[in-house]
Amino acid sequence: MRFSRYFLPTMKDTPSEAQIVSHRYMLRAGMVRQASAGIYSWLPMGLKVLRNIEQIVREEQNAAGCNEVLMPTIQSADLWRQSGRYDDYGKEMLRITDRHDRDMLFGPTNEELITDIFRREVKSYKDLPLNLYHIQWKFRDEVRPRFGVMRGREFLMKDGYSFDVDKEAAELAYKRVFVSYLRTFRRMGLTAIPMQADTGPIGGDLSHEFLIQADTGESEVFFDSDIVERDVFSADLSKPEAANEAFDYLTSAYARTDETHEQSLYEAQVPEERRRQRRGIEVGHIFYFGTKYSEPLNGLVMNEQGQEVPVHMGSYGIGVSRLVGGIIEASHDERGIIWPEEVAPFHIGLINLKTGDDACDQACEGLYSKLSAGGVETLYDDRKERAGAKFADMDLIGLPWQVVIGPRGLEKDEIEVKNRATGEKEVMSMGAVLNRFLGA
Ligand code: ATP
Ligand code: MG
Repeated sequence: MRFSRYFLPTMKDTPSEAQIVSHRYMLRAGMVRQASAGIYSWLPMGLKVLRNIEQIVREEQNAAGCNEVLMPTIQSADLWRQSGRYDDYGKEMLRITDRHDRDMLFGPTNEELITDIFRREVKSYKDLPLNLYHIQWKFRDEVRPRFGVMRGREFLMKDGYSFDVDKEAAELAYKRVFVSYLRTFRRMGLTAIPMQADTGPIGGDLSHEFLIQADTGESEVFFDSDIVERDVFSADLSKPEAANEAFDYLTSAYARTDETHEQSLYEAQVPEERRRQRRGIEVGHIFYFGTKYSEPLNGLVMNEQGQEVPVHMGSYGIGVSRLVGGIIEASHDERGIIWPEEVAPFHIGLINLKTGDDACDQACEGLYSKLSAGGVETLYDDRKERAGAKFADMDLIGLPWQVVIGPRGLEKDEIEVKNRATGEKEVMSMGAVLNRFLGA
């Protein structure tokens, strides 16, 4: 992509409305613009990152055996009346009336709708286990939308739902998702800490939140450093023993909140040298809630003994749009964003130090077309701008690699390659640059 043709409205000054670093950088790097309170438009570069995150989530869900569906944003109130949540949900729910005076709502979550799909199609234990997920916009009329996309009113969530014939099978489904979540976050360059959580309005008896470490996080977590250092991610989740073992290990060391009684449990369990205390951002939340929805909504299946029983369910959320901000909170410096490779909008930022100079233009164009042909996503800064402005924008945007071509270096076949994360610079020939990014 050529910078001159890309809709990438960067800003030098810090917008006054942004209180945290991710919000500041997302505005300055031209990723999002606020449409109204807690509601954002995604501009090309922000959308690219959002899609990358979404794709990692999708791949890991599919690898864990989940099936992707797509449910609508607008739901009928009837199902929510059946489950009893229409009144419980309160003002967070955006209620809508259609032209026939029917009560509708913009979905804040989908337990009711998925249970309705399930009860119409699935009748027997033979069709279980089943896990259905979608990646769809949600609306929650938060009292205090803030921190940009971190606490929006409209936000993108992956929500998944598991269906099993009994509690034992449902707990296994829960453990599989648990381990797959840790993999998902790790693929984005993040270390997520699983923390035992309250089940809240969704109800039920088993729940974990996944937190990524960042100074601006809303929750305080205490955890065992072992959970972030040991590798249990290679577990084969199709094998029950492997999922059980990985889960038991990780939860025997789960993070604890600072409530006094939990604090003493934590101290009893974790040796002093492994105790860590950090602030965290919730990027995922999972629940096992048994038959809470299947009973009122008649989600019944025939079990092996030939009895009709309410299906056991769990629900599993990942804050896809929140993760865009969360990753920036976890990975930035005073000059801008530092994207982990897997979610970066482009792999390389190519800087032409003197656009209009024949030698520079030729070298840059040649390199840009070879990288593009080789499938290496490159943002080529071909603008007629000062070198200083180009450097500042490239650091702000935070692509993993910067390749800098200027007239003086070119005379000696010298090109600078900078690693955005470490700041390390190497000088190399054009041949070596091609070799580095395209292989031999
Ligand atoms: P929180 O405690 O942060 O309000 P929640 O517990 O209400 O979140 P869940 O119902 O567990 O949220 O939703 C699943 C995931 O969706 C959360 O872990 C979070 O990553 C994301 N999420 C929830 N609310 C928002 C929001 N207002 N803006 C952006 N992402 C959100
Ligand atoms: Mg939650």
